[in-house]
Amino acid sequence: MLYHYTCSHSIEGINEQRVLLPGDQLPMAQLNMPWTTQFVWLTDMAVPDRASLGLTSNFIRCDRLRYCYLVTETAEVHPWSVVARDFPELRGQIEQAQGARPAHWFVSRTPVPVHMPAVHRIPESVMDR
Ligand SMILES: [Zn+2]
Repeated sequence: MLYHYTCSHSIEGINEQRVLLPGDQLPMAQLNMPWTTQFVWLTDMAVPDRASLGLTSNFIRCDRLRYCYLVTETAEVHPWSVVARDFPELRGQIEQAQGARPAHWFVSRTPVPVHMPAVHRIPESVMDR
C-alpha cells in the first residue's frame, strides 16, 4: 500500500476520474513546469511527516497533507532512489531539503488509479490550518 497526499485543490478532479495524473499531464499543465511534475509522487508513510516528504508549503499556502489517496495498483510505481539515477540534477535539488527522507518517496511516470475518494485528514496543529 502506498499513499498520495495532496491539498484540497486537486481532489475534485481526482475523485471524479479516480486517477492520479503526473502534473505535466493535467489539462492545465503549462510549459516550463518543474521537473518534479512529470511524476506522480507517492510514499509508504501511512503517517506522513511534512519535512520527510518535502510537502512543506514553503512557497504555497496549501496544506498538502490535508487529503490522502490509498494506492494499491503499484505495477508502474518505482522507488525514487532507483528512478533518481536518471535524474541526477533533480535529485541534487530535492534531496537536499532539510529533513527530506527520499527512501520514503515513490514515483510513477504514468497515471495511477485510485479506487476510493480522498480521505480527509485532521490537521496536526494550528499551523496546518
Ligand atoms: Zn492547493
